[in-house]
Amino acid sequence: MSALLPLARDRAREENPPKAQTPRRRPAAEETRAGGGMGGSSASPCDLEREFAPQISQLLATPPLQSAQEYYDGLIQSRKHDGIRVNFSSKHGKGVCANKDFAEGDLILKDQILVGAQHSLNKIDCAVCSYCFRFIGSIEFQIGRRLYWQSIGSSNDCTNRRHCHETDVGSSASSSGATKENNNTLPEEVLGSLITGDMSLPFTDHFSLPQVVGCHGCEEERYCSQSCADSDWETYHSLLCTGSKTEPSRRSALQKFVEHANGSNDIFLVAAKAITFTLLRYKKLKMQSEFQKNTDESNFSLLMEAWKPLSMGFKKRWWDSVALPEDVDSCDEDSFRQQIRDLAFTSLQLLKDAIFDAECAPCILFGVYKISSFEDYFIHIDDLPDDEKEEAEKVTRPFLDALGEDYAAPCEGTAFFPLQSCMNHSCCPNAKAYKRDEDTDGNAVIIALEPIKKDDEITISYIDEDVPYEERQAQLADYGFVCMCPRCQEEKPN
Ligand SMILES: [Zn+2]
Ligand SMILES: [Zn+2]
Ligand SMILES: [Zn+2]
Repeated sequence: MSALLPLARDRAREENPPKAQTPRRRPAAEETRAGGGMGGSSASPCDLEREFAPQISQLLATPPLQSAQEYYDGLIQSRKHDGIRVNFSSKHGKGVCANKDFAEGDLILKDQILVGAQHSLNKIDCAVCSYCFRFIGSIEFQIGRRLYWQSIGSSNDCTNRRHCHETDVGSSASSSGATKENNNTLPEEVLGSLITGDMSLPFTDHFSLPQVVGCHGCEEERYCSQSCADSDWETYHSLLCTGSKTEPSRRSALQKFVEHANGSNDIFLVAAKAITFTLLRYKKLKMQSEFQKNTDESNFSLLMEAWKPLSMGFKKRWWDSVALPEDVDSCDEDSFRQQIRDLAFTSLQLLKDAIFDAECAPCILFGVYKISSFEDYFIHIDDLPDDEKEEAEKVTRPFLDALGEDYAAPCEGTAFFPLQSCMNHSCCPNAKAYKRDEDTDGNAVIIALEPIKKDDEITISYIDEDVPYEERQAQLADYGFVCMCPRCQEEKPN
């Protein structure tokens, strides 16, 4: 019996709660004013911010209630999520209510990512579709490339990457299995033949993964299907592709932007997607309006319309919302926030140099997504009848040992989920984010934890709710609210 497997099993498939860097509650009105606009206490160092101050504050303003309600009703209808509705109340702001009864274990919602990206470091651990975040290739390909990177990491590059990771200011990127040293290396030829498909492992035919489809421009992005490749191109990637089809000066500008993001904080890559998403939508709307000879519509109102899906989830500027890292003293908070704001403006300037017509770059707050990796495969081997298992393990054991204790490292990234982000927190939630066997892409899956009656509010926990009252409140302070859920009211010291 492997010492590693039971651990992975205990880890189950529960999704990690969103991190503190990614608050999901709507702010009180004052908070939006304080955090939005010119972004913080001191004058902005960014030319764009100064030049377009009125437009930026319009883009960042809380959408009018009626327009928000219409937006969510439309979204729920178009995605056929008829089990829920988004409600607004003056007391709690946005919330999600049940539109029908749910039994324990029922699927409430599968929320599609609006904008998201895999963490840069996680790309070493997991090869996933850049659009839907499904694992791609084959189990052999996944194991082979992870071990290959691991072997390179333990020889020379490891210190560099680790250094780069440590300077990840305000990042939510978590540690990567591949950056850990592991002396248990396998010959390079073996890894090569795993990657190319010349070597196959037993029972992997039960775990077939979609074939890799490359971007027709660059070698960076890979997809599970042509339809994901096309959707990504249409929605974001046509402005971000660093491939040969991109004009050379734009390509080098893009490369500079990507380098800066990878060296500082990979959330800028998600922000770039949010901006290209908006720009490409804007271009489409403009074409439509020109076609319909609709001269009433100003360019700015088209931009507002293009930005709408993201504006609905906007809470605060990124530099105002990042939780203060533990090693930063609270009296240094101002300079910390200024530092990361400068970083964001540098990133924006680099992006602007690359895609030019970007006129706005407000930061949305994003959740964290995680998809389990090929642990199912090793669990399957472990569950085989003894004789078959013994036979299979002769082949698989060296790979499992070489992968080390982080063999089950999931695909991790940052994403914005339009509906899940409307769900309020409770320390006694009636629902949770949970991946079932069939949930192999990056979408957020919300399952009922108990029977939920029609019209009840659906709540999830933003934190690990199995900790005492004080600890819960301290963690929730990063989200900017004091929890008044039934459990907190009961446990609150007098
Ligand atoms: Zn895909
Ligand atoms: Zn590309
Ligand atoms: Zn609570």
